[in-house]
This record gives sequence, structure tokens and C-alpha cells, in this order.
Amino acid sequence: MTGTAKSHAKGFKPEAKKHLGQHFLHDQGIIAMIVHAVDPKPGDRLVEIGPGQGAITFPLLDRHGELTVIEFDRDLIFPLSEGARAHGTLEVIHRDVLTVDFSALANESPIRLVGNLPYNLSSPILFHALDHAGSIVDMHFMLQKEVVDRMAAGPGSKVYGRLSVMLQAYCQVIALFDVPPGAFRPPPKVDSAVVRMIPHPPGKIGIDDRALFARVVRDAFGQRRKTLRNALSRICEGAAIEAAGLRPDARAEQIEVADFVALANWLTANAQVEADTGEDAADNAD
Ligand code: SAM
Repeated sequence: MTGTAKSHAKGFKPEAKKHLGQHFLHDQGIIAMIVHAVDPKPGDRLVEIGPGQGAITFPLLDRHGELTVIEFDRDLIFPLSEGARAHGTLEVIHRDVLTVDFSALANESPIRLVGNLPYNLSSPILFHALDHAGSIVDMHFMLQKEVVDRMAAGPGSKVYGRLSVMLQAYCQVIALFDVPPGAFRPPPKVDSAVVRMIPHPPGKIGIDDRALFARVVRDAFGQRRKTLRNALSRICEGAAIEAAGLRPDARAEQIEVADFVALANWLTANAQVEADTGEDAADNAD
């Protein structure tokens, strides 16, 4: 039997592919908790990232009747489409999720994103979603617990950092529940957790220059033991930090998200910014 014919045979379960971060959920209790957390309502446009073998897809379809999924692994496309027939209407987009334009997908109505994400791509997927936050109602993602802890942390926490500030500036981030490795096949080496993210209404975000805001946050946490005055020396003077209402001798881990926004906006308004050297400019927060 050829690879493709074999993958189309009834009941065939392809081997999990490590490079695609495949850890398939099998714990029915956890799956029910995810569906309950998403709580689809009539008219919702649900989009699942990385449906895999349908562990969340089919129960969501049973509940909601229709769903769009984005899956990169070609071996999973046919079994998914076939398996979905008994559950509802499934639209399968066979693409790398990072190339999917969520705003275009939401041209008729905003979308609700769901996914047990490939952990190796979680930061790029989160930031890709943020680029389309205006088209997204909410997101429910399974991620490494350690990442969820950092996403949801507040000032003063040891794990409050760049990821916390960058995400919380654009979304409300709510850690929902933890998931042990045994809920997956094969089990990952780490604990997992489910997080809900609700993008703020555009008027509430209030960041005047997104690139500058990202730069301020990046440099502030680049050396988290340094005072803001020192950590931000490539961007501005201590006097500017003070004029924006922050203490130059404070450390980034003590600063509220709203104060980072205030600082970046003050720098934007007062054109008090040194040129970006380009160092680390393209990387994601982690
Ligand atoms: N949702 C399934 C479950 O809970 O059992 C599978 C989750 S598994 C952790 C991650 C899924 O994302 C896999 O199906 C994998 O093939 C898919 N995936 C990996 N990289 C992807 C990408 N760049 N774009 C879309 N899907 C991707």
C-alpha cells in the first residue's frame, strides 16, 4: 500500500510527527472542558488551528454544526474530512496557519479561534493572531503551562515579562485550567494549560505606535535586573521616562502594562526616540 492510500484507509491513525508538534488529545474529560470553555453560540464562526485527528474538532462540530479548520499535515486532511461527515459541516484549509489571513477569513463576521497548538510555534501563532486582533472575538488555546503562566502574569511576578506585556496590551488573558501530559498521545515532556484571550476593543488598546511600543518592552525586559534608565538607554533619556510619569530607577518587572503604553505614547508624541539599531527587532517575545 502506498503512503497516501494507507493514510486514507479506514481507521488509519498516522504516527505523530514530532516536527509538527503533534500530541493528540485523548482525555475525554479534558476535551469536554475545552468545548465547555469555548461554549459555541448560534452564529459563531469557529476556526480551529491544528485539528490533528479531530479530538476537539468532532465534539465542537457535534455542538455547533459547522467549523473551519487549518491543518498543515497533508496526511491528516482526508481522514479529517471523512471523519467529520458524521458530525457536521467542516471546511478544511490545508495551509501553514502562519500564512492564513485571519482578517480575510473574518470578512463576513469576526472569528473565534480554538486550538491545541503545536508548542514549537506557539509564540509566532499568538503574535500572528494579535496582528488580526480586530477580526477575532476570542481565542482558546492549549499551550505549555509555563507559557500560559508567563502570558497571564502581572507585575511583581517572577514570570512577568515581555510576553505578558505584549499580549496583555492587546488582550485580556485568562488562564483557565491545567492539563497533565497523560491527556495526550504521545505525552509531551511538559505540563499544559488552556488559556482564553479576549482582544480589547480597538479604542481601549490606545497604543499610538505599535513598533515603538514593542521596542520599549523588548529593551525594558532585555536585561530585567537593570533599572529602566539603563535598560532603555538605547531608546531614551531617564528624563523622558520621568516626564512620562514612570520612575527611571524602577525595573521592568514592576511596571504595569498601562504604564508601558503611557511611556511609548509619550515618546511617540514627543519624538524623543533614538534610532533603532535593528538588533533583535524582528524576534518575537518569549
Ligand atoms: N487538535 C489536535 C488534538 O488536540 O489532538 C492536534 C493538536 S497537535 C498538538 C498540533 C496540530 O497542529 C497538529 O495536528 C499539527 O499537524 C498541526 N500543525 C503543526 N504546525 C502547523 C502549522 N504551521 N499550521 C497548521 N497546523 C499545524
